Formats: sequence, structure tokens, C-alpha cells
Amino acid sequence: AKNVYKFGNGQAEGRADMRNLLGGKGANLAEMNLIGVPVPPGFTITTDVCTTYTKEGRDAALKLINDEVKDAVAHIEELTGTKFGDKENPCLVSVRSGARASMPGMMDTILNLGLNDMAVEGMTKKTGNARFGWDSYRRFIQMYGDVVMDLKPKNKEDIDPFEEIIEAMKEEKGIEQDTEFTVDDLKVLVLRFKEAIKNETGKEFPTDPWEQLWGAITAVFDSWMNDRAILYRRLNNIPEEWGTAVNVQAMVFGNMGDNSATGVAFTRDAATGEDLFNGEYLINAQGEDVVAGIRTPQQITKEGSLRWAKLAGISEEERVSKFPSLEESMPAAYKELNETQHKLEEHYQDMQDLEFTIQEGKLWLLQTRNGKRTGAAMVKIAMDMLKEGKIDEKTAILRLEANKLDELLHPIFDTKALEQATVIAKGLPASPGAATGQVVFFADEAEKYENSILVRIETSPEDLEGMNVARGILTARGGMTSHAAVVARGMGKCCVSGTGGIKIDYKTRSFVADGKTYKEGDWISLNGSTGEVYDGKVITKNPDLSGDFGHIMDLSDKFTRMHVRTNADTPKDAQVARNFGAQGIGLCRTEHMFFEGERIKAMREMILASDEEGRRKALDKLLPYQREDFEGIFEAMAGYGVTVRLLDPPLHEFVPHQQATQKELASEMGVAIDVIRSKVAELEEFNPMLGHRGCRLGNTYPEITEMQARAIIEAALNLKAKGVDARPEIMVPLVGTIKELKLQADIINEVAEKVFEEKGARIDYKVGTMIEVPRAALTADEIADVAEFFSFGTNDLTQMTFGYSRDDAGKFLPIYIKKGILKNDPFQVLDQQGVGQLVDLATKRGRETNPKLKVGICGEHGGEPSSVEFCNGVGLDYVSCSPYRVPIARLAAAQANL
Ligand code: PEP
Ligand code: MG
Repeated sequence: AKNVYKFGNGQAEGRADMRNLLGGKGANLAEMNLIGVPVPPGFTITTDVCTTYTKEGRDAALKLINDEVKDAVAHIEELTGTKFGDKENPCLVSVRSGARASMPGMMDTILNLGLNDMAVEGMTKKTGNARFGWDSYRRFIQMYGDVVMDLKPKNKEDIDPFEEIIEAMKEEKGIEQDTEFTVDDLKVLVLRFKEAIKNETGKEFPTDPWEQLWGAITAVFDSWMNDRAILYRRLNNIPEEWGTAVNVQAMVFGNMGDNSATGVAFTRDAATGEDLFNGEYLINAQGEDVVAGIRTPQQITKEGSLRWAKLAGISEEERVSKFPSLEESMPAAYKELNETQHKLEEHYQDMQDLEFTIQEGKLWLLQTRNGKRTGAAMVKIAMDMLKEGKIDEKTAILRLEANKLDELLHPIFDTKALEQATVIAKGLPASPGAATGQVVFFADEAEKYENSILVRIETSPEDLEGMNVARGILTARGGMTSHAAVVARGMGKCCVSGTGGIKIDYKTRSFVADGKTYKEGDWISLNGSTGEVYDGKVITKNPDLSGDFGHIMDLSDKFTRMHVRTNADTPKDAQVARNFGAQGIGLCRTEHMFFEGERIKAMREMILASDEEGRRKALDKLLPYQREDFEGIFEAMAGYGVTVRLLDPPLHEFVPHQQATQKELASEMGVAIDVIRSKVAELEEFNPMLGHRGCRLGNTYPEITEMQARAIIEAALNLKAKGVDARPEIMVPLVGTIKELKLQADIINEVAEKVFEEKGARIDYKVGTMIEVPRAALTADEIADVAEFFSFGTNDLTQMTFGYSRDDAGKFLPIYIKKGILKNDPFQVLDQQGVGQLVDLATKRGRETNPKLKVGICGEHGGEPSSVEFCNGVGLDYVSCSPYRVPIARLAAAQANL
């Protein structure tokens, strides 16, 4: 098989659709060549080689590619007229990772590979610039030492050994900037760097370019398994088996003087989705300088530059002299870049994220990929491209990431509260949304507070987990394409970057803004859409949903087969879900109604009663409350089915466990406290989730079922009398045998007939069951004899299929996921192979008995896109999820059906 794919000079052995083999970057480098975009020549080593490397080790992998890499290097040398290690005209390359899915900043990169004591002379001769040659050389040794020879510091407190040498040298020379080093200083740095490598590793820095190349290739393969790459894959569901490709490419230099530059650009606005070419660049710099967030980058377009200056409070004079746009500073290169971005977007029919370098006025593209974007931008770009006629409806729907709709549904600042709020600093609007929380300074401490804001000078890929936990991220340095900004947008997390006005001191765990000191634990608020940072807590509110969002929901309905219901227990939640387009309630948990105010008293009275008569007396008090609740819910869902579940949780959840509350209850009920205590002790269970709950309650205390059935039917009849179309569906929980269901159904039907007689009116209602005990799934053919509908309670079904307690699994599940025993938390993502098999089988067996059986799901999985897709595949009629997940489920249901 072929392991290495060459490209260059308008030709390529690969193509865009080969990303599984060549990785995203490699496939697009090939494609750009094919469509006439200028790309430095190079080659891609396939992801299969990475897999061989991981499985069989270094020797096996290098043996596999040895001849092909030699041939491919010769190809670069030929196209560039250079030679590896040459004294006159050295061949220098970059070595970069490139996985199938983009993993920004997660893996390692080496630049200027091929430099050694000879080649540096060649480079100096060729460019006539000794400083440039030696500076490139010392950067290369530093990068190679950090990445390949593993000198990169492992702890957050440690300093990079090379940076330490640089600092010491600056002190010796009494200078402040790297740029003040003379050629001789740089030569000394090179020597000291090599010494440091020798001292720390016991090995010489390799001067043979071939040795350098093999080292760099294997370092990229190794980086696939580094901690941050593993974490990123876990967060983004990227399988380890995919591996990474390695891209080796002729170097081009953005740091060859003032007619050279390097930058990053987006064909549309990644934050808002607006059709605005935008990006950042630095004159006389290398690519890493832009993303590392160390120098303040400049804007590519003049329009963007003007906007940026306004936000940053920079005068026009200062802007033009210090921060001109690329459009102004290099008009010819800008023109070509602008044409190229149009060409690329036209070709890929999606927003592109580009990396480019201008070497002495000549433009080169180093990368193009579909750009990461916020949920809002995702929606706007897809809908705009649909309107522009560039993509069709199905493509538009499929291009959306259902989970990301979440960002559009989340709070923004309340306008009134915002008027009162004090701005303490202003940074770049790196990732939109609102966040309010308590300040932390270290990523691994983000969990300290329920709502934390991670405040950093700049972020690095090591901070990923903390960024994920924090509500928002504030950085002092870095532009819109800095690590923090890119990663935060991908996470849909509010981020303000490049906030120069704050002075952070990690040692004292504090920062100063606007003359005030903020310590760890103090509250601040961020507006990721404007870049404003506020003092204290600022109230947030829910966003408006219309326009594009509505259009997406309409399109989803057009393509979907399943419909989406909601899990709601109150008229208010039901209304919220209706507004999000829920068509009915798939699960109304009645127990939640027993906790409020006066009701809990009646409930406790019922539980404490010593006989049926006492229970009935207490249940009579609960009846009007229940009826009233149901009326409100049926009304909010008029015209749609409402599945009401009978009482489910174990009774001990309703009784007081604290001495003081027990005393209170005793005096209220006029009994001795010991009566209460002994009852509470009696209710205690070792495994309450497997104990006296679900229909086991209704079957031991039928009067509870009677009361609930009555409340439901009476509520529906009352509404019918008012002309409201109420459609009750009564659901029996935790059924395992047909008899359990049959006895409950008999009670419900008897009560219904009685109520119909009393009121002289009838109404349609259904009786069905949850399928949440494996035995019920296995005997679904029998169960369907009685049940008119099934609703999979996949929370309990997961619990009982795995034998993992819902309440206690949190202790070991994270470790199981880390160790790869499980891919996901099965309580969040449906285990299709095991639990899913029961869902599939029960649906089939149930429908064999009753072809009209209505089947849905109401466990947490009903709002999780991959689980929704599965439900569509096995033919469920609907999914039901919490109100805020309804739009996500609607979109996922449509996507599943396309
Ligand atoms: C379930 O078990 O999936 C379910 C929806 O019921 P609950 O979570 O209330 O047990
Ligand atoms: Mg359940």
C-alpha cells in the first residue's frame, strides 16, 4: 500500500475526500494544489502509518515509510531547487500533525527542520541575512529540544529551559527584547541550547537532517497519545483508532523582513456568522507567533482594522502607524489573498479557516479547513448559504451540529442589569455569550466554585479541562485566533481575550483592573460578544428565538419522521417546551407535585397512616392539588398527548430525616416523635432504587393509583367542559411482569368509568407503561396485550441492564471512561449495543402483538443527538426530553432521517 502522498506545483497524489487517510490538513493541502492555490510543496504520511506506529512501534513504522519518504524529500528538493543540509541552498521543512478531525493546538509542530551548522551558513548566504539565519536556527533547536527531545516543562510552575537561557542572556547583555540580540549573541545561544540538551538528556542535538526528520515524524506520532490530545479526543468524541497523519512541507518564511508576514483568516465571521472576510496577521513573524498570542496581531481587512481600533480605543493615527491592516500595508498580497479566500469558500461551499504566509511579497497558503464557529455563526452561515443558493435544504440541516443549538438557547445579560453594571476592562469578543462567576487563576482549580471564571495571562492546550469546567474565560493576552479564543468558540464557552487592561499576578492569585484588585473567589462577569468585563455578578436572561432559528426548526419538521415531546411537570415548563416546539409531554413525573408547600404534609400523612382508611383520608387532601396541576398542564398542551406517570419514587424520599423536622411533623400530626422515627426507619432500604417504588407502590397501595387516576380523568373532563382538548395518557412505571401492569390498568379503568358516570361525560384516554426493567423489555409481547403505549425509561433501563446504581455510578464511571472500559457515560449517551438492543427488541415484540402500539423514549437520552438517531433507526414514534433540549432533539431527529 501507498504510505506517503506527494503534492506541489499544482499537482497532488491525494484529494479532499481522502481525509481519513491523509488527515484534514493533508487532504486539503493536496486539494488546494489541484485547484490552483499556491501551496509550498511537500508530502503527507498517512494515518495508517500512525496506527502501525502505535501498535507495532517505531522500527516497524519507519521501515514501512523509509523509501517513500526518501523519494518524497527528493521531490521537495527538486521543486524548490534545494538540498537537505546543503551549505549553499539548504532544504528546510516543517513537520506538522494533521488528524481526520481538526484538533487545534493539541499536537506538536516543528519548523525550520534541516538547519545545522552548515545549513545555517547556506541560509545566511541565500538571504544575505545572518541574523535571520541564526535566529531561525536557535528557534529550531528550541522547538526540537522541547518537542522531540522532551525538554518541555511538565509542571505549570516550571520554566522552559531554553527560555531560562534566553532570559539569562538578556540580563548579561542588559537588553529587554529578543530582537536586540546580535548575530554573535544568537550564535552563543545556539551553543548554550545544544549544551542544555546534552546536559538534560545525555544526548547530542542531532545535526544530520535525516536524523532530525525521523525524530520529528515519530514525535508527531507520539503526540497523538499525549495527555491533552487524549483529553481533547474524549471531549470531542474522536476515536483513538483514527491516528494522525504527518505533513512535511517546504518552509516558507513570514519572518524574512518587512515584506513578509504570516496570518490566520476566516472567510466569514466565526463568532456571528456574518459574511465578512476577517483575520489577523503579523509582519515579519512566524505562524506560531500569531496563534501563541504573544504579540498583538493586526487585522487583515481595513474595515476590520477600523472596528478593532474602535473597540480597543486606539486612535486612527496610532492605528495607521502601528497596526495597519494587511489591505493597507501589502495591497498586492492582500488582493491575492482575498481572491484566494473567495475561491476556497466557493470550492468547499463552507466557511474556511485559512493559514497563510507571505514571503517577500509572495503569498502561500499553508492550510484550509472548515472553520470552527459558534452556535450562532453555525446557524447563520448555513442559512445564509441556503439563501444564497449555494447549498440545499438537506445539506443545510446536515451541516448543523445539534448540540451546538444549545448555545443559542442560553442566557444573555439582562439589559437592565447591564445598564447598572460597571465595566472594569475591555478585551476582544473572542467567544460570545454571557458568563458570571468567581475568579480562579489556574485551570486545575476551575472546579473550586460552582460558577468560575478562569482568568489567565494566556491559555495553553494544557488548560483544556479547566476551560471546559469554567463558565467563562478571560485572558490578558492573545487575539481572536489565540488558543483561548479558538478553543472557547469550539466549546461554545464565553471568552474575552487580549484584555491588556488587566494585570494578573499568579503568585498572589489576584488581578488589578481599573484600579481595583480582584482576588480569587471574587465575582466578575464577561460579555463574550462585546469583550466587556464587569465588576461583580450581572443577572442574565434568556435569548430571543426567531429568524434563522425558526427556519431551522421548520426545516427540521419537514424532514423528520419522529416527533419530539418534552419531560415536564409544571404548566410553566410545559409552556416553555411548547414554545420550543414540543408536541406533547412524554413524561410528567407526578411525584414532583407532592413536594411543594402544603402538599408535602398531606403526602407525609398518607405515608404515616397505619391503615387504608388513614391513607385515603390523606389522599383526599392531595386529590384537588393533583387535579389542579393536571388541568394546567393539559391546557398548556391542548391538542397534544400528555403522558402522566403514576407515583414512582420510594416513599422514604418524602419523609423527614432530620430530628427538628421530625419533631415539627410529630406536633403537627399530634403523634409522638417516636412514631415518626420508627416509620422513617421502617421505610429505609438498602437499594431504594431497586426497592419499594414504581408500580410496586401502586400494587401495594392501590388507593394511591385510584386517587391519581381520578385526578387525571377529572382534570381532563373539567377542561373538556371548557372546550379544551385534553389528551391524557396514564403511564405505569417500573413494570416487570404483565400482572403488575394488568392490575394497575384495571384500577385506572374502573376509576375512569366511575368518574364518567359521576360527571355524565366521557373522554378518550390511554393506559400504557414504561419499559425500564429488562424483564419488561424481554416480555414486551405480553405487556403489549395491555399497554396501549410504551415509553422507554432508559435511565432505569440503563441502571438495570448494566447493574450500575444511578446514584452511585459517579464514583467509578469517570475512571471507566478514562481507562476506555466505556466510551461514554451510558446515563448520558445511550449504550446502543446493550441497552439499545433491549429497546429494539421490545419495540419489535410489542408491535408484533399490537401493530398500533405507540412507542417513545423519555429517559435523559431522548435529548442526546446520537441516541435520538438510534431511536429513529429502531422506529420509535417520538423522543421526549427536557424543555431546553427540545430544539436539539428536533434537529437531531431530522438529521437522523436524512
Ligand atoms: C427513566 O427511568 O428513564 C425515567 C425516565 O424515569 P425516572 O428517571 O424518573 O426514573
Ligand atoms: Mg425510571
